[in-house]
Amino acid sequence: MAREREERRLARLRALSEAFGVAGFEDEVRALIRREVEPYVDEVRVDALGNLMAIKRGRSSKTLMLDAHMDEIGFMVSSIEEEGFLRVAPIGGWDARIVPSHAMTIKTQTGQKLKGAIGTPPPHILTPEERDKPFKLEELFVDVGATSREEVERLGVRIGSPAVIAYPFERLNERCVMGKALDDRVGCAVLVEVLEALEDEALELTLVANFAVCEEVGLRGARTAAFQIEPAVALALEGTVAADVPGVPPTRRPTALGKGPAITVMDRSLIAPPRLVEFLARLAQEEGVPYQYKVPPFGATDAGAIQQTKGGALAGVLSVPCRYIHSPVSVMRLDDFENAVRLTAAFARRAHELLEL
Ligand SMILES: [Zn+2]
Repeated sequence: MAREREERRLARLRALSEAFGVAGFEDEVRALIRREVEPYVDEVRVDALGNLMAIKRGRSSKTLMLDAHMDEIGFMVSSIEEEGFLRVAPIGGWDARIVPSHAMTIKTQTGQKLKGAIGTPPPHILTPEERDKPFKLEELFVDVGATSREEVERLGVRIGSPAVIAYPFERLNERCVMGKALDDRVGCAVLVEVLEALEDEALELTLVANFAVCEEVGLRGARTAAFQIEPAVALALEGTVAADVPGVPPTRRPTALGKGPAITVMDRSLIAPPRLVEFLARLAQEEGVPYQYKVPPFGATDAGAIQQTKGGALAGVLSVPCRYIHSPVSVMRLDDFENAVRLTAAFARRAHELLEL
């Protein structure tokens, strides 16, 4: 790949991964994506919930919806203690065991980023029984260095302020990158690159790239977006669960790194239409793109909500495998990303073959 293109790809992945976008607070991600996609489409609009839709008109008025969600799991300040500590409530599916002892970034009322430590009582003072038990989320507190509630409020923190565990995006080696929120900023990045790749092409179907809000709290943005878009065909682009790690048997590994994008046959939100699954697999073979099937039934995706819009849509999921999603930091392979872009672009060019136009 041309060096310049690779650098642009990495810079975009970094910006998207590091952007603050807890479900319901996607503004920063949306602004970034808007700038990226505007040159490649005919129209960009934002709906009442905050979904960003980038529209590229095709020969047909029938629509292909490509969806990636902008939101990430995070937290919300639920109370401020007299001594200046914060308590937080989870937004989305956290594993409480892995939350303690990270650094937290809180977004204040004025949009400033405030740092804090997710504190726990020190091991020295715990009884042996207490040490054996993981902390519950409600036991955790965030220490921003303040000494009173008034001081915290002066910093612009309120009940309802959103927060994330934030790590910088890193390149691990030639193959792999590591960062937060790859679920689903990697899908957003794939979608931006697909629009870029199609810039000079006339498509058969009208393409609506939907960058959705609030997937992590119940596929909320995609549901209302699909209602407006009325897609004939749709594909949700995800950063999905890879579990090719020590201690996990093959039957419980939904996907593995390095085997190409994953085609979903079934997850907890949908059963993908077999002819869509077969079409994706055939396209991958024709394009010379490696692919894998995601082992059912793990995870849920926007495709589940899109499929059930109005009279129904032919909807599926294509994912970039990512290890450690729904944790503070995930690992992904760049070749899987590249192959997801190639397969999705091919799908956008040929999705009309699934319909009788
Ligand atoms: Zn996701």
